[in-house]
Amino acid sequence: MTEEKAGPNYEEAERRVGATPEQRLRWLVEFAQEDLASLSRGRALDLDDEILAFTRAGLPGDQGGLALGGNYLNREADFVRQLQQRWRDNLTALLDRGEFSYTATANYILGRTSDGSIEAGISADTEPAFFIAVFRLLAHEGVRVRRCDAKGCGRIFVGPPRQLFCGSRCSQRVRTARFRRQHREAVSDMRHAAYARRQRSKLGLKVKVARRPRRQTT
Ligand SMILES: [Zn+2]
Repeated sequence: MTEEKAGPNYEEAERRVGATPEQRLRWLVEFAQEDLASLSRGRALDLDDEILAFTRAGLPGDQGGLALGGNYLNREADFVRQLQQRWRDNLTALLDRGEFSYTATANYILGRTSDGSIEAGISADTEPAFFIAVFRLLAHEGVRVRRCDAKGCGRIFVGPPRQLFCGSRCSQRVRTARFRRQHREAVSDMRHAAYARRQRSKLGLKVKVARRPRRQTT
């Protein structure tokens, strides 16, 4: 099995991807949502390294990660964009339709050493190797991936299973909206009382202040 050569900044890319499955899951979800519209050559090369680091990382207890096939090197923006698009499509399918499916060709290789112990490895082209790594990570950690519940957000994030929103901005926004909804009637009553007070002081105490019909709440 041949190992591909990584770029000069590979160790930094490995650090950005992270050491634990949870950190790598966060990297993976961020990668799906990174804006690649104006991807610089430098960032494309960095992402190439990050994709390689992610793909090789494997899971705890693995003998070794995946080995990539020979077409890894010298890939840039187009490859990164295409891989991101496919990954995003798959992630969206999993979250919104409940299913992730990717057909991969890979060589599953076992080596038997002279003392009888077995060495295992998987070898594949970059894209199938990436998706095999994605599949394995999501099979273990996918329960933490979800879409933000806040209206109009839809951001995908990694969090504990009970977390509903991508961050404090969205959860605050939803709390405020719920508070407003629940207190709309109370606020409306208070406003009417204040209005009635003003009218009474303007027109004398015996005025009965008619009330507009309540607006339909949506
Ligand atoms: Zn959100």
